[in-house]
Amino acid sequence: MLKGIAASSGIAIGKVFLFEEEEFIIARRDLAENEIKKEVMRFRKAIAVVKEDMKRTSKSAYEKIGKKHSRLFDAYVMILDDPMLKNGVIKMVVKEKVNVEHALQVTINRIFQSFMEVKDEYLRERSRDIIDMGKKILKSLIGMERNGLKEIPAEVIVVAHNLSPSDTIAMRKDKVIGFAIDMGGKTSHTAILAHSLGIPAVVGLKNITYNVRPDDTVIIDGNQGIIIVNPDEITIKNYEREKKKHLDAVKELDKLRDLSAVTTDGHTIELSANIEVPEEIPMIYESGSAGIGLYRTEYLFMNRNELPTEEEQYRQYSEVSKSILPYSVIIRTLDLGADRMADGMEALAERNPFMGLRALRYCLKHPEIFRSQLRAILRAAVHGNMKILLPMISAVEELRNAKEFLVKTQEELRKEGIPFKEDIELGVMIEIPSAVLTAEILAKEVDFLSIGTNDLIQYSLAVDRVNENVAELYNPLSLAVLRLIKMIIEKGHKSGKWVGMCGEMASDPEFTKILIGMGLDELSMSAISLPKIKDSIRSISFSSAQELADEVLSAKEQSEIIKILKRDKLRS
Ligand code: PEP
Ligand code: MG
Repeated sequence: MLKGIAASSGIAIGKVFLFEEEEFIIARRDLAENEIKKEVMRFRKAIAVVKEDMKRTSKSAYEKIGKKHSRLFDAYVMILDDPMLKNGVIKMVVKEKVNVEHALQVTINRIFQSFMEVKDEYLRERSRDIIDMGKKILKSLIGMERNGLKEIPAEVIVVAHNLSPSDTIAMRKDKVIGFAIDMGGKTSHTAILAHSLGIPAVVGLKNITYNVRPDDTVIIDGNQGIIIVNPDEITIKNYEREKKKHLDAVKELDKLRDLSAVTTDGHTIELSANIEVPEEIPMIYESGSAGIGLYRTEYLFMNRNELPTEEEQYRQYSEVSKSILPYSVIIRTLDLGADRMADGMEALAERNPFMGLRALRYCLKHPEIFRSQLRAILRAAVHGNMKILLPMISAVEELRNAKEFLVKTQEELRKEGIPFKEDIELGVMIEIPSAVLTAEILAKEVDFLSIGTNDLIQYSLAVDRVNENVAELYNPLSLAVLRLIKMIIEKGHKSGKWVGMCGEMASDPEFTKILIGMGLDELSMSAISLPKIKDSIRSISFSSAQELADEVLSAKEQSEIIKILKRDKLRS
């Protein structure tokens, strides 16, 4: 039995599909004499494929993000042509009769080390490019397996060291019944995706990949964050019973679909859904949500060689907003960067990516990308009820830059005679402590605020949301976080503005009563969580929620908060 972090609830029992990704230690395999030629050919082919890909990316980067970034890809092509790499790998395959993946890894490490030892700072910096290049060739070599993500055998449990959000979204929902991952925290984007897709998942397992073999049977207990490898018959039977119980409980909540989210004393809360891709819309209908509170648009930009055109975005955004009428869609502008990369963005290779060129910062630095997205949104908004949400705002000046950009884009459309929504509502995500402290200034300049607790917690407690080593410190109930949330709601309301929450904290019934008590207008979450949150709301009174929130906020330490909540639970 292995213990990790419960990331997405539910039980799954199935065979392991070991997802080998680029950070894996590739096993050494001895070759028979007649395999050597074929192996060298494989390597040459992989180099050619990556080179072609790099040239294409360089061209498209030049057109979209300018010369500076496109040069990086040219540098990659030079690395691919370098005899130290090419000859080094081929020599090792031929001489030592080993598989090319192993030879590649050894050679790349050797070159990397020699770069690291030089005095020149610039060359040392470039050593990362060598590693990236190695990964790209490796990806091309084991491409069959990676592309196979879309053709995974039915009903498997994907076990991986790490899984990027783009890998996760590429997996077919009907094929993958569970995830077990070495890395990650509860609010990593991969965990959020598993949750949105309704797939049980345990993350932060640290070494599950070393403890299972392909085709082992495993049980994923996404409720408790446990994995059982090769369980006996009795354990399987017990878990099958548990799984049925879980599914029955989910079904029971179906009854709430058409009821409103109202407390016992008549206070109504808006409940809406978070989506990543339009395929989630049927789940939204089933959940009984009142619209979309967060549409994460970055997923349209992943797993592809070319960025989506304005037309493609326009089509997708229109489809989403039409399908959700009469309700509204809060569409968030791109939050790329950090762990969510579009093709070509690997070139950023930042040391501290969550504090780097992410979200709005990235968009303002790449006006062409921002412009085409805003045009698509403004045009699509004609067909529905759409509002724009800006992520990662840290200061009012940043917001003003974005607003200026929006006005300019509207002017452009007007001049071109293209229909668009003139008076579109604009909101900001409050997910950085500096934005909390200045929320009253921000609120005056927008129509609404939406609290992003996933980032707010990581930035205020200095706890990386995707790092399993500090996952225990990631505490939504910490006094500081609760005070920040309260502060945002008060400042927003004082300016007469609507305040919602779209971070994962909104989807956990443990927190519902406090959040309602603090006065939030809306909670937005993955559709799958919505019925149980509605159930919680319908069982509490607003006045008792307010009392609880006041009491918790006046606590002096963590143990006191836990005690207050325990007592409240016993009472209700
Ligand atoms: C958040 O940070 O809480 C949020 C909703 O945005 P994301 O998880 O996409 O960063
Ligand atoms: Mg965020």
